Amino acid sequence: MALALLVLLGTMACKLWREHGLNREKEFDRLQTQARVVDENLIRQLQGVNRALAGLRYDLYYSDHPGETPNMSRRLQLLADAMPGVRDLSILDKSGIVIGSNNKSALGADLHQSPYFEIPQASPDYAALYISPNYLPSSGFYAVGVSKAVSEVDGQFIGLISATLEPSYFDTVMQSVLYAPDMTVSITHNDGRVFIMIPPNVKSLNTNINVPGALFHRHVQSGQTISQLVGQSKVLGDQRMLVFRNIQPAELRMYAPLTVSVSRNLAEVDAIWWDEAKLNLGLLAAFGTIACIGLAYIHKHRRAMHLAHIEIQEALKETAQRFEFGLKGADLGLWDWNMAKNTMVFSDRLWQMLGYQPNEILLRGGLWWQLLHPQELPVLRAAFIAHIKGHSPSYKLEHRVRHKDGHWIWVLDHAMVAARDEKGRVTRVLGTHMDVSERKQAEAHLAAATALQRRTGEIAKIGGWELDLSNMLQTWTPEVFLIYDLSVGTPLSLDESLNCYTPDSRHKLEQAMAEAIRYGTPWALELQMTTTAARQVWVHSHGEAIVQEGHTVRLEGTLQDITERMQFQAELQRANEQLAELSVTDGLTGVGNRRFFDQCLASEWARSMRQEQSLALLMIDIDHFKLYNDAYGHLSGDNCLREVARILNTCICRPGELLMRYGGEEFAVLLLDTDIAGATVVARRCLERIRHAGQPHKNSPTASHVTLSVGIASVIPHKDISEQDLLEQADAALYEAKRQGRDRHMCATQGPPPAPGPSQSEFYLG
Ligand code: GH3
Ligand code: MG
Ligand code: MG
Repeated sequence: MALALLVLLGTMACKLWREHGLNREKEFDRLQTQARVVDENLIRQLQGVNRALAGLRYDLYYSDHPGETPNMSRRLQLLADAMPGVRDLSILDKSGIVIGSNNKSALGADLHQSPYFEIPQASPDYAALYISPNYLPSSGFYAVGVSKAVSEVDGQFIGLISATLEPSYFDTVMQSVLYAPDMTVSITHNDGRVFIMIPPNVKSLNTNINVPGALFHRHVQSGQTISQLVGQSKVLGDQRMLVFRNIQPAELRMYAPLTVSVSRNLAEVDAIWWDEAKLNLGLLAAFGTIACIGLAYIHKHRRAMHLAHIEIQEALKETAQRFEFGLKGADLGLWDWNMAKNTMVFSDRLWQMLGYQPNEILLRGGLWWQLLHPQELPVLRAAFIAHIKGHSPSYKLEHRVRHKDGHWIWVLDHAMVAARDEKGRVTRVLGTHMDVSERKQAEAHLAAATALQRRTGEIAKIGGWELDLSNMLQTWTPEVFLIYDLSVGTPLSLDESLNCYTPDSRHKLEQAMAEAIRYGTPWALELQMTTTAARQVWVHSHGEAIVQEGHTVRLEGTLQDITERMQFQAELQRANEQLAELSVTDGLTGVGNRRFFDQCLASEWARSMRQEQSLALLMIDIDHFKLYNDAYGHLSGDNCLREVARILNTCICRPGELLMRYGGEEFAVLLLDTDIAGATVVARRCLERIRHAGQPHKNSPTASHVTLSVGIASVIPHKDISEQDLLEQADAALYEAKRQGRDRHMCATQGPPPAPGPSQSEFYLG
């Protein structure tokens, strides 16, 4: 703008300067014209005077008494009257005395010292017209003095004829050339005296303007006939433009020229131009101001727009960030379908969801449809078309999309129209995809698991139930209804369902439920019930409490028909019992059982009797085994029993030595053909090995490990005693071993003293 204004200002300045120059030039032309008008008039006047003076001089040649004749004065008067503008006509003799004049007061005046006499007298040129300022005391100002020299026939200077031109005569001509109030026109003698100035100015008549620095002086110095000058007027004191024009026609042979000067006040000359310039400058200033204001306004508006734009951009950025954050947070992929251009844009997450690098493939609407699973495509198409027709605010569908690898992923597609054109046609659709493959998989697994559960429930005859404690309403799975012999959905109150149980079972169940509600303890009970179809069934009832915020809100559990299992178990038990009856092996330890012991004792007794051999019996009892059970538990007790049996088994190595579990924690060893000494060896071995095994028994008062007490008896059977006697003797000896402090053996009969060893052994007389 500044540059444009500068250029404009420059152009205008050039134009104004040019106009200024033209204006001055034009003005000078006009002033020239006016000067010429004055010039021509003055020349005509001077020519007339020249001719009159020449005529008068001619008359004088042929007069005998020039200047002295009375007729002369009259004639001069007539001549002066005839020539307009001529005030005085005088004749001077060779000494400068006025000898003839129409002005009687001038007669006899001695003018030999006046310059207009001295110059012709010094160098008379009879053809020349002398012009000089002629001071007119009567009027107080200079008039134009015009004279011609008069000579004798031989050429000797004899006098002068002079005429004084009346300045006012030129008024009319000079007035006529004034066309502006500020204009002046003047006639000046070559020596710098102003004869006349229009409008009249007294100062001009007393001022010599042919002085250095004055404009007139410059004109004279230039030697030019015509000058155009601009400068300060010496007379008027203001800045003026002047045209000087010398009047010096050749035929008049003027001694010194007269100069016409026409001038105008410079300010006035420039005024119109200046007004126009001011108008132009004003217009330019106005234009500049308006332009600047406009520009400032535009700038301000632009700035505001820019700020608003930035604000909008910021807001958009924030919105985009929030949007991005939202999308990220929700793990959503975004698709943006420009239907007008048929281009699609995917967010990075969506590309990633589909297994591609961002913008790996060029997306078009058509391609997009190809990525969708054909099975869901018709439904999706229908939903899409319905939506773009405006039947729905948005649509939400789950469908599959082909992954880059070729497999399908499940997505939840939620889309809506984002823009329409002026005709209402859809131009842009926006949508999000959420990868729900995992959920779909989980759903499939759940469905499969549910189906499996249902099938297994059917097979296992197991059902689920739930009891809402707030309203005591129960919910059953179909299987429970079947167990109760009810058709699925038949309503049955809690009390009615409990009534089906036998009194004992109902009591157990109610107790378990009460405890679960109060303490949160679960239950697992095998109960008997009579179904609504009067069928006797066994059920396995399992239940537990569901606690929310510290309160049991409901009970949940399963009910399984175990009738078949119970029947089978009962049968199995019976079969086991029968089997056990036939068995000779102890189920726990694997050694012979009581039955086997009885059989062996009976048969060996009989055989020993026949062969008259001694038969020995060791009765072995684990010390403080009750305390062992208490300390380590029953199962550890069983293990201990197995371990003791195993160790004892290692202690009998000869054929005919039999280890059997007599009962509880008692074992019996039958030794064929063995007397008490032999039996004692075995007993001692048993004690040592058990001791050596060092099975820990922290609660035993006897030792820190498991110990045994052994009762020994040996007899040679005969008909007066029975095997029962042997048993009793051994038992008695065992009792004695216990009594004496345990971890020892005792013999029931007298025999040799026991061999020395770590254990204490005594004989006991049974
Ligand atoms: P003592 O030293 O006087 O024999 O003391 P004790 O505790 O061993 O004798 P008691 O007869 O008072 O207790 C025998 C215990 O053996 C009682 C029973 O619990 C335990 N018992 C019996 N049979 C078995 C069994 O098969 N397994 C287990 N773990 N313990 C059994
Ligand atoms: Mg015992
Ligand atoms: Mg015992």
